[in-house]
Amino acid sequence: FLSVHNLRKSYGGHVHVLDGMNFQMEPSERIVVIGPSGSGKSTLLRCVMGLEKIDNGRIEFEGARYIEARANGRKDNLIDTAVRAKIGMVFQHYTLFPHLTVLGNLILAPIRSRGESRATATERAMQLLKRLGLENRAGAYPGMLSGGQKQRVAIARALLLDPKIMLFDEITSALDPELVAEVEGLMLELAEQKMSMMIVTHDMWFAKRIATRVIFCADGRIVEDATPARIFSDPAEPRTADFLKKVL
Ligand code: ATP
Ligand code: MG
Repeated sequence: FLSVHNLRKSYGGHVHVLDGMNFQMEPSERIVVIGPSGSGKSTLLRCVMGLEKIDNGRIEFEGARYIEARANGRKDNLIDTAVRAKIGMVFQHYTLFPHLTVLGNLILAPIRSRGESRATATERAMQLLKRLGLENRAGAYPGMLSGGQKQRVAIARALLLDPKIMLFDEITSALDPELVAEVEGLMLELAEQKMSMMIVTHDMWFAKRIATRVIFCADGRIVEDATPARIFSDPAEPRTADFLKKVL
């Protein structure tokens, strides 16, 4: 389904932010990526989303080439943008357009990049907002929403493009504690619907609840890749144990 081979990435200098990552993901898996600050978690998700030029390696999606670094390492990556359109991502800081209403934010990409009619996009957006209990916020501007509402709208916006996989990078980290639950609740609903997900979170309680698999990264490498039961109760690697001691 998603398959990452020897993924390397550095920014300018010589430090490898991603130092040869390899993993394969099956449909409906929910991989939670944990690790110390600076270990490359966000960079990994950004590479999978096609937002960063990779230095080496390749990423396949549904058995076909998606991103590949070219041999001389200088030119742009080969990237299949039709595949990229099947991947949705939500970030820590709200990325809604402030000058557009909630509805305006939701219908923009379906109209512009999928050529949907305004009527169809609006109808689909309103249905989704209703499901999320946000239909009365359709005309509101992002500045009028709570942080939890903004993140749920950001998720809705991604879902309207019918992603095959969703990437979440610390999407509750900037939220007040009482708003975290409504966003995590929506992610758990997506899990019930068998959405494939990669999730970066510092919330280990939530990681235990949502993950089918946990990847612990350090220094741009995968140190341990196991079930949540295994990682959280009996990690195989001392570095994983050390990290969990600090965050649990
Ligand atoms: P955190 O838990 O703090 O979010 P992270 O695991 O997501 O950390 P990344 O954001 O992927 O870590 O960053 C990995 C390393 O790459 C860090 O050392 C960071 O300083 C560096 N880095 C990230 N983005 C850039 C950039 N645009 N330019 C230069 N260096 C960067
Ligand atoms: Mg990060």
